[in-house]
This record gives sequence, structure tokens and C-alpha cells, in this order.
Amino acid sequence: MANHEFQLYNTMTKQKEIIKPKESGKVGMYVCGITAYDYSHIGHARAYVAFDVLYRYLRYLGYEVNYVRNFIDVDDKIIRKANELREDSISLSGRFCEAFLEDMNDLECLHPTHQPHVSEHMDHIRSMIAQIIEKDCAYIVDGGVYFSVDNFPDYGRKRNPADFALWKAAKPGEPSWDSPWGLGRPGRHIECSAMSAFYLTSSFDIHGGRMDLIFPHHENEIAQSCAACSSSNVNYWIHNGFVTQNNEKMSKSLGNFFTIREVTKQCHPLALRYFLMSAHYRSPVNYSILRLDNASVEVLTLYWFLQQLKEKALKRAELKEEDVMQMIEERAKAKKQKDFERGDRIRDQLYARGIYPRR
Ligand SMILES: [Zn+2]
Repeated sequence: MANHEFQLYNTMTKQKEIIKPKESGKVGMYVCGITAYDYSHIGHARAYVAFDVLYRYLRYLGYEVNYVRNFIDVDDKIIRKANELREDSISLSGRFCEAFLEDMNDLECLHPTHQPHVSEHMDHIRSMIAQIIEKDCAYIVDGGVYFSVDNFPDYGRKRNPADFALWKAAKPGEPSWDSPWGLGRPGRHIECSAMSAFYLTSSFDIHGGRMDLIFPHHENEIAQSCAACSSSNVNYWIHNGFVTQNNEKMSKSLGNFFTIREVTKQCHPLALRYFLMSAHYRSPVNYSILRLDNASVEVLTLYWFLQQLKEKALKRAELKEEDVMQMIEERAKAKKQKDFERGDRIRDQLYARGIYPRR
């Protein structure tokens, strides 16, 4: 049972708020994932390290966290690259999803509870679009479905330039799925509304992502989710800042980025993690070789310090590390066999020597 109060800045209300989960002791958190068509860069790493820290902290506070982070495997950029390489777009994106997971492991980011792919949730996407059409918040043009930002269907053409696609009609050379509106594929924003509703219901606690997703992606997500289900509600919108270089946002479109694996060839992944966490999560963190080197030294110093502490503790306890590990294992075994008396006896022996094993 979670019993610690904490605050987070909510982008929606523009203020810090005490986090009060909808269900006591449980937190539902959805974080927008990558569009998998290339290796992820350190701007991506920053987002997922920031939300990993939040995930770990929530768990530390005792919350049971349902953390959902999606993969976009159906998208214009993926299709374009797959066509260039003459490869199936889902298999191309699968390769980069795997590479992303390797990067996340290197950065010691815990696995989310669920990691859904867009291509696996077409049913939920189609039924959400159908609900939006039913509520008169979307209109159909030539096999495509558009969200009407004016909440007014227009069957002629895209009425308001701000209207956006929920479903795109199939074009030659593109993967497509069947739908009531003809062959096609989902628009850019609907997947997060559909998948968050599927895994966390339409009303959940925390929705996160990079700051550049506030508009239009999250604005559109809110419009879609509320149109499909009037009780849809996310309590806290959390956004992380950018990685910059020479104070300019690092991004794939600007070409001023480094992939996670390029950087972790130069330094230990934990040094990269440390560097990414070295600024407040909403502030920019400026990348330079010097800052990365400093992070490496600081991580090394931390580990050296921990090693010193361990050696001192073992010396004081007059034990070798293997002895301690063996006692911990034996205690775990005793607890498993429900021999609590023996388990407690080993615990007391460790305590008597100043060693406090983790639960
Ligand atoms: Zn999203």
C-alpha cells in the first residue's frame, strides 16, 4: 500500500499537483513510444530514462504501476524506408523495436508492463474510429476518416486545415488493413488513444512523453479519446525536456543527433544515463563530450565509493562476500520452504554483523 505523497508538474494545469491515483495504491501510466524505423537517438533515451526514474520511484513508494509504452510500427516514415530497402515494413520496424529494447537494457530501463504495437491493435483502433464517427466528430472522404475539430461533419473535403486523419485510405505500395471505410491504415494519433484505453481504460492517471508531443499529438489524443468516450480522462500530463547541442534541440529532422549506440560505444551506458539525469527532467540538457566525460567520472566515483563501503562493511563483519551471499541465499531458501524460524535466525545473524540485506 502506497503511503507517500508526492508532487509532479502537470502540463495540462500548468502547476505542480499532489499525485492522487484514481485507484488507491495503483497507478496507470502511458508513455508515447518510438516510431521504429531507425536506431533511437539520445533524445529518445532521455524521455525513457526520465519515465523509468518515475516508474521506479512510484514502485519504491509502494504503488502497483501499470506502465504502458507503445511501439509505432505503422507510419509514413517506416513505409518510406521499407520501400527504399524493398523490405516488409512490419519486419523493418520489428528490427528497430528489438534494437530499441537492447538500448533500453543497456540504459537499465525496466521493462514496462505492456509494450503494444500498433499493428496488433487494429481492431481497437477501428472500433474507436467508429465510435468517433457515431458521435458526429469525424467525417469520411474517399476512404479516409478525418477528425472534425469543429465537431461538425463535412462530407465534401477537409473542411478545417486543423482536421486530422484518423484513418488513411490505402495507397499503392503501402501496407493496409480492412475497415468499414475501405482498405487503409490508422492516422498518426489514434493509436495512443486506442491502446491507452485498451490497457488502462479511458480514465487513467499519468500520460507522458517528450515536450514536442504536447501539440499536436497529445492535443489530438485528448480530442479523439473524449469524442469516443465522454468520461475519458487523464489526470496528469507529464512532459520531459529536450537534449540539446549548442542549445539547439537534438532531432532526427535537424540531423544533429547521436544514436544511443554511437554514444555507448564511447562511454559506459550508465554514464549516458547519468548525463541524461543531470538536469531537471523538464529542462533541456546540453550534450557535449566534456559533459559526458564528467558523467563517466562521476559514475565511476559513485561505484568506487560503493565498493569502498562494501569492503569496509565486510571487514567489520569479518566475513567474505561469498559467505554473505551464501547466507542470503539460504535465508531466501528457508523463506520459500516456509521455515520462517530459520530464515529469521539467518537474518538476525546478518543484522548482528551490521549487514542489512534488501528485502
Ligand atoms: Zn502517443
